[in-house]
Amino acid sequence: MSRWDQIESLSEQYPSVPKEAIIKQDVLRLGVGFSKDSLLVAAGFKPKDYFIFSFDLATLEELEEAGEHLLTAPEEVRFSGGTWALKPTIFNVRLAPKSPYQVELIQGKLTLALEGKPLSEVEYHPVPPFYQAPLSSGKKISEIAPVLEWGYLIYLTVYRLCQYWGKEEECQFCDINENYRQQKKAGREYTGIKNSADILEALQLINQLDQAQVTQAVTLTGGSITGQLSGKGELDFYLDYAKAISERFGQRWILKAVVEAFEKKDCQRLKDEGGVSIYHPNYEVWDPELFVRLCPGKERFVGRENWMRRIVESAEVFGPSRVIPNFVGGVEMAQPYGFTDPKKAVDSTVLGLDFFMSKGIMPRFTTWCPEPTSFLGNQQAAPLEYYVYLLEQFKETVARYHLPPPPGYGEPGLGKAVFSVSAFMDVL
Ligand code: SF4
Repeated sequence: MSRWDQIESLSEQYPSVPKEAIIKQDVLRLGVGFSKDSLLVAAGFKPKDYFIFSFDLATLEELEEAGEHLLTAPEEVRFSGGTWALKPTIFNVRLAPKSPYQVELIQGKLTLALEGKPLSEVEYHPVPPFYQAPLSSGKKISEIAPVLEWGYLIYLTVYRLCQYWGKEEECQFCDINENYRQQKKAGREYTGIKNSADILEALQLINQLDQAQVTQAVTLTGGSITGQLSGKGELDFYLDYAKAISERFGQRWILKAVVEAFEKKDCQRLKDEGGVSIYHPNYEVWDPELFVRLCPGKERFVGRENWMRRIVESAEVFGPSRVIPNFVGGVEMAQPYGFTDPKKAVDSTVLGLDFFMSKGIMPRFTTWCPEPTSFLGNQQAAPLEYYVYLLEQFKETVARYHLPPPPGYGEPGLGKAVFSVSAFMDVL
């Protein structure tokens, strides 16, 4: 079956999931390539800033071999129109030179082609007005405070490594440490620990120059800290950045933190002292056995039971709708321990959705991308049907518990959603 037929067939089988969401999930799982002219012709787009992980299906070296132009690819692409009259839909770019999805220049128009046939028109993530503003340290804003989600979100990975080291600790799907190494090896500016002064200066410039207030939220994150970093444990390390941001800018942005699942008293400090209003204690995968296999560091340093308990208790601090733990959609199918049947994989994940959503907590998901330097890097992506069934079930579970769309993600819905690493906001 061609991918075109597969998309048609899944669309008939799961009528509550729009074609746009199916295509978005397919591009996220398989990645996308770009012809040289498609990147040369378009002026003024924001390139990939490698804001935390590589999110590519090839290493930087492989990309360079496939064509240096790929290293200038945009952060996000918005597709629309075509024979299916698709509504505007944004996806995060995961480079894969041989993907069936290719952005090409066809009759002078930027076009997303699938298996060589035009699928839709495309636009690239525009350059924000503040991106060229210089910082006094000489660093670029794109390096210190890159934006995502079509400009909605400022993403501060203040620590670009993780102290879960090696196969016995690192989450098996994650390439944060390897990505850091490959960026450094390629001679790119890539700051391991960001300086608070740089961040405040970058945010000051953004505040001044983003007159349309496109940026609405700030995510503060980085790898786990099991020992000390700059003389602090994980909570104090991240809290100091949060404090500095909220003291200087108050409520200008919704402040979100993607950090460890902390005990309730520590969550209280994040909220009271740091001004964090949305908390993302990512649980990655629901199935208990897979959690142990895929997140050995989280298991060793916190433990699954504690992790889930802490998520639930944190809702007493932030309010349930402001606790939004992430799972990596599709990683339940990683072999040799994962599910082989996509429906069973989703059914397992729905147990977790039920558990959290029944308490008013709305998990979200990102799309597993087998990054080559992660421990699962030699695996196939999860099948497309997994994602389509997941979106259907996600939507149904949200409806069953009458949950509102999550705060801090912009507008939900087809043609409006900006969250680019899965289609969960597009289907709400
Ligand atoms: S906690 Fe896991 S997912 Fe997060 S940075 Fe560390 S290894 Fe990666």
